[in-house]
Amino acid sequence: MKPILPLLLATAAFCVLHAEDKPKSTPETTAKPPIVKTEEDWKKILTDEQFQVTRMRGTERPFGKIYEEFEKQGEGTYYCVCCGAELFTSSEKFHSGCGWPSFYDASKAKNVLERADNSHGMRRVETVCKRCDAHLGHVFEGEGFKTPTDRRFCINGIALKFVPKGGEAPKLLEVASDEVQKKKAEVAKEGGTAPGK
Ligand SMILES: [Zn+2]
Repeated sequence: MKPILPLLLATAAFCVLHAEDKPKSTPETTAKPPIVKTEEDWKKILTDEQFQVTRMRGTERPFGKIYEEFEKQGEGTYYCVCCGAELFTSSEKFHSGCGWPSFYDASKAKNVLERADNSHGMRRVETVCKRCDAHLGHVFEGEGFKTPTDRRFCINGIALKFVPKGGEAPKLLEVASDEVQKKKAEVAKEGGTAPGK
């Protein structure tokens, strides 16, 4: 018998239990994120596991290797593994014991979007990256954690890229809209010069 099944069942039970906590706000959004790519394009820049979680709204196994690393990480910033947007910092990190990276708030960069998720017969609030719509996890509140917000951003570690304090932030994936591409082509044609230094 593989040990993974009881773990998954425990996870499901945990989620159901906490899904009953009524979220105060379940904002809906239909706004398109700035970065839109095809599944094929995402597959080119993500690993299979990253793709499954962030683009197919999967959930990583709790208490995995990434979680172990997360627990040991010191000061730093957590960025979106898909587009490089700042999502969380170590200041909002806390130990919840749920087996996934936990934060009590999003970073000041405000790139974490919350929206209602009624899938799997549960009422939950999903968290996604505002820039690229990557699925990050869910947020639960009113669980009694002794944090400033009593909210638990339950995040898949694989959706995050950690950069220790003082390290270089990942490059932000560019907004590749048709308009931007057209403009770039025009500038290249005209032999546009970069602003003088
Ligand atoms: Zn993103």
